[in-house]
Amino acid sequence: MRILIVEDEKKMASFLERGLKEEHYAVDIAYDGEKGWKYAMANDYDVLILDWMLPKMSGVELCHKFRKEGKITPVLILTAKDSVEDKIKGLDQGADDYLTKPFSFEELLARIRALLRRPPHVTNKTVLQCANLKLDLIKRQSWAGEQEILLSQKEFALLEFLMRHAGEVVSRTAIAEHVWDLHFDPMSNTIDVYINFLRKKIGETPSQSKIETIRGTGYRLTCP
Ligand code: CA
Repeated sequence: MRILIVEDEKKMASFLERGLKEEHYAVDIAYDGEKGWKYAMANDYDVLILDWMLPKMSGVELCHKFRKEGKITPVLILTAKDSVEDKIKGLDQGADDYLTKPFSFEELLARIRALLRRPPHVTNKTVLQCANLKLDLIKRQSWAGEQEILLSQKEFALLEFLMRHAGEVVSRTAIAEHVWDLHFDPMSNTIDVYINFLRKKIGETPSQSKIETIRGTGYRLTCP
């Protein structure tokens, strides 16, 4: 899952970036509203985290413009403001949630998970299951049958994306957009390499879930 953070306080931005990357999310950062707007329109994020007070365009304005373009990506607004009127203003401009600074990182994570449970991320579970595969999104543990499998952060993120789209063909572009960040080189074979790592770890027998290669298109996780 890929997150855009628009935050002008560099310390705060890098704290969030580091923390979210540790939690397997792919993260892009913009330090002002205009850059944030450009990123939000150019890439397909799963959640936007917008600081309210930003140079060039506020987080609330950005959110308002974003919604006017018909974008439904969940938006979380961060702010030092905590009056009820401010909250209402933010929510009226299309924000889905609101977090007042200072906040605990655990609370931010819980709110991001809640936002990811909303459509279009249909599943409202914190444990994803596909045949013999099981992924606990909170404990960050994964199993193939009874056997726990140890996955790197990227492998976990990739498997989560495939499991959220189980049975569907997902393109390499979609995988790159949701599992990697702006620094990803689309010409590299990184995705194929990670798919092979995952295949080895989850194992493949006819009765179990497996990752199929769909020639010229991408991959599909099947759950027999
Ligand atoms: Ca700010």
